Amino acid sequence: MNTEHPATSALSGMDSVEMAALLPLDKPFRAKQIYRWIANGARNFEVMTNLSASLRDELSSRFTVFSTSISQTLTDTDGTVKLQIELSDGSMVETVLLTDEKGRKTACVSCQVGCPMGCAFCQTGHIGYLRNLEAAEIIEQFYHLEDSVGKLDNIVFMGMGEPLLNLRAIRKTIAILTDPEGRGLSKRRITISTSGLCEGIISLADEGPTVRLAVSLTTANSELRKSLMPVTLSNPLPELKKAIAYFSGKTGSRVTLEAAVMAGVNTDELSAQEMASFARDLNVHINIIPWNPVSGLPFTTPTNKEVRAFVHALVRLGLNATVRMRRGKSIQGACGQLGSRPTEERNDI
Ligand code: SF4
Repeated sequence: MNTEHPATSALSGMDSVEMAALLPLDKPFRAKQIYRWIANGARNFEVMTNLSASLRDELSSRFTVFSTSISQTLTDTDGTVKLQIELSDGSMVETVLLTDEKGRKTACVSCQVGCPMGCAFCQTGHIGYLRNLEAAEIIEQFYHLEDSVGKLDNIVFMGMGEPLLNLRAIRKTIAILTDPEGRGLSKRRITISTSGLCEGIISLADEGPTVRLAVSLTTANSELRKSLMPVTLSNPLPELKKAIAYFSGKTGSRVTLEAAVMAGVNTDELSAQEMASFARDLNVHINIIPWNPVSGLPFTTPTNKEVRAFVHALVRLGLNATVRMRRGKSIQGACGQLGSRPTEERNDI
């Protein structure tokens, strides 16, 4: 398994201190100028008009602002947009724009090429794993989306890959996106979603950044979860519960428990009771996600009636539970559907 990061001289993933150390600048303050240019939408050196023409030429000949490019853009009738992004080594990742009923725009970004976690219900989990993304490759997904659809309100690390296996790059991405001298995104607008890696959750609680946490619980039945989410084998549910309690105790924030529900698998009364028992004493909200179809996987999307009955059961048991609206289904951009697919299956805009 190759987890090495390819070398890139793209500046998008650097802060101004790194730029000052690397770039042949005539004045140290130029690094901050370049840093601000990139946060404000510059994608090449030519547009950085407060730099001299000779400096712009030199920078252009030796460095690039971005290391990635959009290879395909797809849009759903519900407004969801999916970008397929080509990395410098030819690998592809996907990034999705989700727009809620109030018009707020959220970027769902990938953090790995593929994913090693192998969740049974997820397309990405079935395409294998190649490597972690660098900070530049994650930040550029956000910027590519902003270039395509305008200013974004939120970012969720919920695309391809397990973010807590790439915390170094995630931390750097967040530091750059939240820097008041750069893009200035609020940390409250950032969510990291994990399949349930206890060590990573505790590291996030202890060392930050202080962002929102979502945990893909799916089911609180230990045996079923082991079969659906192999992460359970090394991160058993009692340990996961402790890690979630530690995170919300330390940060004071409520954690979202995500549950992808599949017809006849994890929606019955017993499933609700097990989830209620897991969530008891935790500061959590439950987000139910009706499973989005992935060809070749042995699951069925539950009917609205089945989903409603499950949510009612959770609420009756005292839980705070809602259903996430399904978006991006026709472009394979919904939760659990991300993964490279043949071009002819797509609908270009
Ligand atoms: S659900 Fe998330 S963690 Fe699980 S395989 Fe898919 S991308 Fe990986």
